[in-house]
Amino acid sequence: MKYCSLCGHKVVLRVPEDDHRMRSVCTHCDHIHYENPRVITGTLPVWEGKILLCKRGIEPRLGYWTLPGGFLENGESLVDGALRETEEEACAQVIPSQLISIISLPTVNQIHCFHLADMVSPAFATTPESTEIALVALEDIPWDDIAFKTVKKTLEHYCAFYDQDRIPLLETSITPPPRPAVA
Ligand SMILES: [Zn+2]
Repeated sequence: MKYCSLCGHKVVLRVPEDDHRMRSVCTHCDHIHYENPRVITGTLPVWEGKILLCKRGIEPRLGYWTLPGGFLENGESLVDGALRETEEEACAQVIPSQLISIISLPTVNQIHCFHLADMVSPAFATTPESTEIALVALEDIPWDDIAFKTVKKTLEHYCAFYDQDRIPLLETSITPPPRPAVA
């Protein structure tokens, strides 16, 4: 951020009084522009044992497979955002059953959350965001062509526990591997 979204004057990076982090602070109106992580919310839709995957029609990761999901909007609950994204990306109607994953990505300031969901019917359709959509058996998941690590972890977790009454919540973080020690 270079300019204040309130008054248009320049912002500078500094630690405000009683704070401990660098913030973008307006040089004119003193407004502090806090920036916080964004939430990605999605579903793992299931129909008769198969899962719904979407081939991405947009960057990033164009052409790779993913679960329907996207940025949570203001004024929206986590689950409502997941249902909206499932409708927008796959034209699929689902009933959420449980939250199955919360994955923090502190290096890119995101949190990805997925709800397990039952499809109301096997109806779905491609959209500008998804060039191909498929119901895939667990043994046919294209593991080498999954778009995002959070989607892969969520799918792996589902495959490990899908035959249980309730799937435990996967709560984890993805951080880059530590740098090798310099000799
Ligand atoms: Zn300002």
